[in-house]
Amino acid sequence: MKVLKFGGTSVGSAARMHALVELISDGAPKIVVLSAMSGTTNSLVEIANALYVKEHDKANQLIKVLEDKYNAVLPELYKTETALKKGKELISSHFNYLRAFTLDLFTVNEERAILAQGELLSTALFHYYLEEISIDSVLLPALNFMRTDENEEPDMKYIETNAVAELAKHPGKKLFITQGYICRNAFGEIDNLKRGGSDYTATIIGAAIRSEEIQIWTDIDGMHNNDPRIVDKTHPIAELSFDEAAELAYFGAKILHPTCILPAQMQNIPVRLLNTMQPDAKGTVITSKATGDSIKAVAAKDGITAINIKSGRMLLAYGFLRAVFEIFERYKTPIDMITTSEVAVSLTIDNTKNLDAIVKELKEFCTVDVDTDLTIVCIVGSFSAEKEGYALQIFEALKHIPIRMISYGGSKNNVSVLVESKLKRDALIALNSGLF
Ligand code: ADP
Ligand code: ASP
Ligand code: MG
Repeated sequence: MKVLKFGGTSVGSAARMHALVELISDGAPKIVVLSAMSGTTNSLVEIANALYVKEHDKANQLIKVLEDKYNAVLPELYKTETALKKGKELISSHFNYLRAFTLDLFTVNEERAILAQGELLSTALFHYYLEEISIDSVLLPALNFMRTDENEEPDMKYIETNAVAELAKHPGKKLFITQGYICRNAFGEIDNLKRGGSDYTATIIGAAIRSEEIQIWTDIDGMHNNDPRIVDKTHPIAELSFDEAAELAYFGAKILHPTCILPAQMQNIPVRLLNTMQPDAKGTVITSKATGDSIKAVAAKDGITAINIKSGRMLLAYGFLRAVFEIFERYKTPIDMITTSEVAVSLTIDNTKNLDAIVKELKEFCTVDVDTDLTIVCIVGSFSAEKEGYALQIFEALKHIPIRMISYGGSKNNVSVLVESKLKRDALIALNSGLF
């Protein structure tokens, strides 16, 4: 059974939903994971933000605008009275639910429940459409089997058992539709897999059911060699290894959720990136196969903070790095880049939730400087230690750009440089002409 995920633009209008049928109705068994219609999650975030600050009028207005958008889709999506009526009822029940939050206490739990509405709506609307055109399908509630553990990681054991059980309730059925992004957390509350999380849903389900292939359908013809939103003349990459794709996703290639490659890699399931607007385009296939020595692509991750830590003692004596890392571990703050010199260590983080507490603890035994508004530019490929020339190529391209930090050699797949965010665009363009 294959898992096919369709992103926001791929379900973003009645016409897109109609076109999607072509891609899923070949009769082969499949699980179709859908995102919310494009723009919906952003609107839900805005609604939640208004509710947090008790701007109830604003929240109600935003809810009304979004509800009108959904109601306008209905007559384009459905032809029959039955489907139209079901669609109307669905929309009014979800939007009345949203409106109920304007009357009561609002916390992070309510916010997550609000954010879940987009995927619940898109999947039900699409399911009704399949019903209307007599394509047999089952709507699987993701909240019955998608779950994260106390570390906010997918609870793979639970998901495996429950996804398989959920599918077994429908013997003989071949087409399953489910929600991307949404899940329950370790307390059973509604939660989500963070922005862009539908990709992660697809790879988690793919791994859980030992799928033969996971397809991520989006609005571009595969992973490009650079960010197409910033750089002209980028091109799709036909093949990537799991390691290369994982680095690109983690370091900002928006086409993939940052951590979505791992579940597929663990079960060695190929991931194919395909374009709904151009279904015949080759796209990108991601497998365990080595793809040969070369620089494949560049990506950038914004919102980075660098912490420069100088040891109080003359040298980085043993035990110093452990003491530093323990603090980040205690605050569950992942470190992205790290470099060391004789008496200092610099590292970067993107989650600054506990930055003040971390700095306070570090200052007990070292001097600390914090630098914000930085971007990691990541050059990804396969660089074997025996082959020379890559570093020269990269730094020749970047010679006019001040570089804050460099990380090379940690993995065979990545060279990272840290620059001020305002120089990101220049850096990506310079690398495009220097490397490709
Ligand atoms: P979806 O809604 O289908 O999940 P996303 O917007 O999350 O789609 O991801 C697709 C977008 O990612 C593309 O439209 C493109 O602008 C952007 N993108 C950024 N970097 C890359 C890259 N290296 N290759 C392809 N697309 C990229
Ligand atoms: N709808 C969610 C988002 O916009 C999840 C996704 O699209 O992957 O982030
Ligand atoms: Mg996405």
